[in-house]
Amino acid sequence: MFELEISREFSAAHQLRGYNGDCSKLHGHNYRIGAILRAKQLDEIGIAVDFKKLKAALDEIILEFDHTNLSENPLFADVNPTSEMIAMVIYKKLKAKINDENVSLYGIKVYESCSSSAMYYED
Ligand SMILES: [Zn+2]
Repeated sequence: MFELEISREFSAAHQLRGYNGDCSKLHGHNYRIGAILRAKQLDEIGIAVDFKKLKAALDEIILEFDHTNLSENPLFADVNPTSEMIAMVIYKKLKAKINDENVSLYGIKVYESCSSSAMYYED
């Protein structure tokens, strides 16, 4: 097995409903998204998946979130746009785009700062 990781960034605002503290006020983060993939085999030139293809697939997804207020996105109408929930939403979207017989998305990590991240994965 091989494990690959790509990362991309976007900026967005959010506010957490029901949170007792500063995060209930509108504020922003420069999010970094890490996508971790596993591949069984390499192609004839030794590549599991083209990093460029992976980045393009993730870019398409995060374009919807970049420079927006995540709390106003219908995807987060019923749940808070926490790092955990952002990770789950991106995981489901990216998995649908890239999984095939060789490659499977393992997890999505969302860093909302350099010291805080949440990861979503499925067993
Ligand atoms: Zn926040």
